[in-house]
Amino acid sequence: MSLEINRTGERGPIDFNQVEPVKFPGFVMTDGPSYDDMTRCIHCGLCLQNCPTYRETGMETESPRGRLYLMRTFAEGNLAADNPNLHKHLNLCLQCRACETACPSGVKYGHLIEKTLDELNHRPEVEEKRRNLAQNVLRWVVFRQLFPKPQNLRLFGLASRFYQRSGLQTLTRKLGLLRLPIWKKIGLGKIGDLEAMMPPISKPLFTAPESELVPARTPQRYRVALFSGCIMSVALARVNEATVRVLTRNYSDVVIPQAQICCGALNVHNGDRDYGQEMARHNIDAFEAAEARFGELDAIIINAAGCGSTLKEYGQLLENDPAYHERAARFAAKVRDISEFLAGIEFNRDFGRLEKTVTYQDACHLIHAQRISKPPRVLLKAIPGLELIEMRDSDKCCGSAGIYNVTQYDMSMRILDHKMERVAETGASCVASGNPGCHIQLQLGIKRSGLNENRDEPVEVVHLVELLDQAYRNGEE
Ligand code: SF4
Ligand code: SF4
Repeated sequence: MSLEINRTGERGPIDFNQVEPVKFPGFVMTDGPSYDDMTRCIHCGLCLQNCPTYRETGMETESPRGRLYLMRTFAEGNLAADNPNLHKHLNLCLQCRACETACPSGVKYGHLIEKTLDELNHRPEVEEKRRNLAQNVLRWVVFRQLFPKPQNLRLFGLASRFYQRSGLQTLTRKLGLLRLPIWKKIGLGKIGDLEAMMPPISKPLFTAPESELVPARTPQRYRVALFSGCIMSVALARVNEATVRVLTRNYSDVVIPQAQICCGALNVHNGDRDYGQEMARHNIDAFEAAEARFGELDAIIINAAGCGSTLKEYGQLLENDPAYHERAARFAAKVRDISEFLAGIEFNRDFGRLEKTVTYQDACHLIHAQRISKPPRVLLKAIPGLELIEMRDSDKCCGSAGIYNVTQYDMSMRILDHKMERVAETGASCVASGNPGCHIQLQLGIKRSGLNENRDEPVEVVHLVELLDQAYRNGEE
């Protein structure tokens, strides 16, 4: 009990156990953030130079501080939900969370923007105004039909592979079919750019074994599960395969539950929190069933930084679900990025030489959301023959940011072009990262920048585990 001026300006004793949590008037469809979370920014500005969109534009409204001010004004009911400027500035945020790392005040920026976008997405006046029919259909397909349903994603992957390999893609590009004015008329003017960004689809796609178990190749000490992800299984299946081989060489039985689905990160980051929660519940059930079948898991391993960050926040995502909250927190406590797991055990050092110059791009959701920067470097430095060349601004976003490179193509490309200047400065022949979005974006960056023109040895983009896997194989020869 203390005597203070309370939040409504009245003097008097406040029993904090009796105080109702503040409900912001702007949040009418969803719970909204807590008062403490929403008011933590002290406007110091220390985050500004860490924000990629502020660095590009120099505008306060494209900075963390400016966006926090907009979010608070909206929350307090002083900015309408359909205000176009609110949407413009929030949508231009990459949700890279570099501002969180820089902030001395502990502002949970990622949490605040997720909650605000969720509220805006639920408001009928926003839904009516915001998108045209084609964009609404696209959103429904991506968020409801493709990513949450592995069978649909696989079908899409197979169809895309056919398109890429049958000559249809070449023909479409030659005829400029995706650059026709009709696409602009129906609100899909960027479809040609999007098609150009499509990564080559893996052959074969990554599939969990029927038994759901890959046994350790070295004396077994750990039982881990692999969260195989959506994009990784379809566009970068070789990374999942390398992850399994690296884990089995590191004393681990690897359980791969077939019932798992996409982690829900895209939904959570794009104002579709309800569906993201459904996906989280589904995954918790799937991994608990795997534990019931194979025994307790020591860790749930993820090789995609964006997914890892969402999986580690399942407890928070389901905080108001009495049936799942504890189970979600237990699940989240077991999640480890592959680099975090390996660097945290006495990892197997039976590497052969791998003569490569490598630079490392920190994925935002690894360095900022999960605060993991040392483990990948410890692993890379342990490979004999590999020279790690640090890149300036390696902790700055590459512009991928989930589907940001689709929704905010122009800003994404500006940020990517700066990233490629930094890559080129290193002179490295290989860029390693720990996230499929960054991987695909950096591959695009190499094409855009012409980095491989006139080079004897082309610069390649790899996942960190591919380098570990190759070094183990070299050790066997
Ligand atoms: S999340 Fe990234 S882009 Fe968004 S405000 Fe923070 S630093 Fe800027
Ligand atoms: S978000 Fe943090 S670093 Fe940025 S202005 Fe607010 S208190 Fe300062």
